[in-house]
Amino acid sequence: MKVTNNVYALDSTKGNYAYIVIGKEIVLVDTGRPGQGKGILKELGSLNIKPQDIKHILLTHHDVDHMGNLALLEAETGAKVWASKEDIPYIRGEKNREGIKRLVSIIMKVKKPENINSYPEDRKIGDIEVIPSPGHTPGHVCVLHKDVLFAGDLIRTSKGQVETMSSFMNWNTDLSKESAKKMANLSFKWVCPAHGEPVERDNNL
Ligand SMILES: [Zn+2]
Repeated sequence: MKVTNNVYALDSTKGNYAYIVIGKEIVLVDTGRPGQGKGILKELGSLNIKPQDIKHILLTHHDVDHMGNLALLEAETGAKVWASKEDIPYIRGEKNREGIKRLVSIIMKVKKPENINSYPEDRKIGDIEVIPSPGHTPGHVCVLHKDVLFAGDLIRTSKGQVETMSSFMNWNTDLSKESAKKMANLSFKWVCPAHGEPVERDNNL
C-alpha cells in the first residue's frame, strides 16, 4: 500500500507492518513476523524493487514480530542491518526477553542475523533519522523520513486514531508515554505504526 510517494506499507506484513522507504537509498523498516519473508520478497518484486536494491534494514525494536525475517532478508538483500545497542543483545539471543515475550520467543524460533550494527552516534542513515523512544523495549526507536514518522510499537492505530500499546506488552509504560510526548514535538504528517494502518497526524500524537 502506497502511503506517500516515498513510502510503502508492505501488505504482505499486514498486522505487523514493515515499510519500504525510498529515500537517498532504499530502506526497509522492520521485517514482519516469522514466515512472511517470501511474501515480502514477492511484494518487493511487484514494486519493481530487487532484493539487492535494499541497502539498509532498520529495526525499531527486538520483538519477534519485527525481526521475524531479518536473517532471510539480510541474506537475500545483502543490506546492512541496524538496531539500537540496547536491543541488540535480545536480537542476538544474549539476553532473554521478559514475561509473555519470552514465551513468544520460545514458541516462535527466529533466526539471528549474521551481522548487526548499532545505530550511528549521529543517528542518521542517509536522509533518515533514527529517534530513540524507549519504553516498549529498552532500545525502541522511531524512524523519521521527511513527513513520515515510523512509530514501531511506540503507539498503535485503530479506526484512524492513535492509541497506546497495551501496557502488558511494554517493558516500561511510563517511559513509553514520555517517548510518545517527545515525538509529538517533531514535525511530520503521517504516522506509520506496525500494528494498525498508517494515519494522518491528528491531535492524539
Ligand atoms: Zn510489534
